[in-house]
Amino acid sequence: DKFKTGLEKTRESFAGKMNELVYKYRKVDEDFFEELEDLLISSDVGVSTVMDLIEQLKDEVKRRNLKDTKDVQPVISEILAGMLDEGEESQGLNLQTDGLTIILVVGVNGVGKTTSIGKMAHYLKQDGKKVMLAAGDTFRAGAIDQLEVWGERIGVDVIKQQAGSDPAAVMYDAIQAAKSRKADVLLCDTAGRLQNKVNLMNELEKVKRVIEREVPGAPHEVLLVLDGTTGQNAMSQAKTFGKSTDVTGIVLTKLDGTAKGGIIMAIKRELDIPVKFVGLGEQKDDLQPFAADQFVYGLFK
Ligand code: GDP
Repeated sequence: DKFKTGLEKTRESFAGKMNELVYKYRKVDEDFFEELEDLLISSDVGVSTVMDLIEQLKDEVKRRNLKDTKDVQPVISEILAGMLDEGEESQGLNLQTDGLTIILVVGVNGVGKTTSIGKMAHYLKQDGKKVMLAAGDTFRAGAIDQLEVWGERIGVDVIKQQAGSDPAAVMYDAIQAAKSRKADVLLCDTAGRLQNKVNLMNELEKVKRVIEREVPGAPHEVLLVLDGTTGQNAMSQAKTFGKSTDVTGIVLTKLDGTAKGGIIMAIKRELDIPVKFVGLGEQKDDLQPFAADQFVYGLFK
């Protein structure tokens, strides 16, 4: 149901136009496919994914001998679900059953990084985990305070230093605290200024090295947060971060704020990084583990 309400804008736009299309054409022909292609592209699905989908759809239509556009609609949901489902096994967080799990969260300012950390803390706490937060964005004014507000809201400890301090030092402190307080999961915020990409990537490397040194095998996840309302911009951010860090998963935020939820298709197909969570609102429980079937259901029902 979270998916249903969270995807309302996309559903109204996408499913609405889809319906119009079905009734406009009635008969399945080349013009129908072409207009469907345009509709999918305008929902940020991504050109190569759309081509793939249309090709599969044409094959199915032929195989099942469908003539009426009404009968095509359910086939589209089926194909979408199938495409989103690929690589399903790699979803879910890589949590250690024994000892501390460290999750590094990266992404540019404004995408919803802090909010997503707060929501993930809530999600993990609900799951019975002892969670702590590391205020590793020492650069952006307000980032530390904002994380503390989330810490209080959720009821988890936040380890911080003064603004402007060395993020690697914050991380070191946070890891020691997490170990001594026997935390299960440490969620680490990081800086997201893009003005100086090289410095930012060097800083992330340094933070990562501290983590690797202090906890062998960590970080267990490097999650990249992307703003779902920014379309191709999100894709290029993923490529930038992907080049310098081993991103293990994506958190796609603000899907409730866009009619172009099709971006998730482009991300899944073109990036080869699993989507672990989607953000569907600003409240603490508006973060959902990604599930292809629920997502597609939310789009069409
Ligand atoms: P950061 O700079 O990446 O840490 O971004 P913030 O966490 O401060 O989020 C930026 C803004 O986006 C805030 O106003 C959040 O409330 C909002 N936001 C984050 N995630 C979502 C989401 O899933 N849906 C909506 N509607 N807003 C979100």
